[in-house]
Amino acid sequence: MNLSSLGFFRSLRKDNHQFAVIGLGRFGRSVCSTLHKLGYQVLATDIDEKRVSDALTEQMVGHALQLDSTEPAALKEAGIFEFDTVIIAIGNYIQESIITTLNVKEGGVPHVVAKASSEVHRKLLLRVGADHVVFPEFEAGCALARSLTKPSILERFDLDPDHSIVELIVPDEFHGKTIAELQLRNRYGLNLLAVSHDGKFQINPNPNQYLERGSAIVVIGCNKDINRLPI
Ligand code: ATP
Repeated sequence: MNLSSLGFFRSLRKDNHQFAVIGLGRFGRSVCSTLHKLGYQVLATDIDEKRVSDALTEQMVGHALQLDSTEPAALKEAGIFEFDTVIIAIGNYIQESIITTLNVKEGGVPHVVAKASSEVHRKLLLRVGADHVVFPEFEAGCALARSLTKPSILERFDLDPDHSIVELIVPDEFHGKTIAELQLRNRYGLNLLAVSHDGKFQINPNPNQYLERGSAIVVIGCNKDINRLPI
């Protein structure tokens, strides 16, 4: 996530417990089942009757309806416009995805999240009013390329294009040295936030603590400085 998404996530109501998901492909189903397991009420819809009945049979959601989301009247009748947040999970049918997004925004839904399947699709969704666009295949591809080229980085949280928080395996060069000895701030401009120990993270670790091969550390700083680490 980046700073441009901040406004969207800040605007979401904390007391909202209901979501509507349009499209029950792999992505839509994973959104539905996760929300459902987390205890939220989910209305799932799809044009395909079988996908709707499967969602109910598998107890993926509490409510599911068959409807064509390119029809504004069908969305209105199903009560979709009353939702605070609607997820449009139609990635492979661009025309249907765009028309649905337009319909849902014109119906007055304040928070519309849409799935894109290409860069042009992403731009079109934003043009017709989507409040937040996700592009899971692109994001997963970027993450895979990063983990293949920097296998020591276990997790990465991008704060903005230039700054990140990363969890990484302690480099061999750091093994047996104390945090103070390493002088990460002076040498790399990085701040050490946590060190793993016995499967748990210790936050604000003691500077006299030794780092060990095989454990993990969490640092925050500029990407160019993170890239200078001996990993
Ligand atoms: P994948 O499953 O390949 O990962 P995806 O999750 O983006 O991709 P799609 O293949 O785009 O899913 O399918 C989304 C769902 O949207 C399908 O189940 C399809 O039946 C449904 N759908 C397509 N057009 C409409 C429409 N007009 N109204 C409602 N649902 C629709």
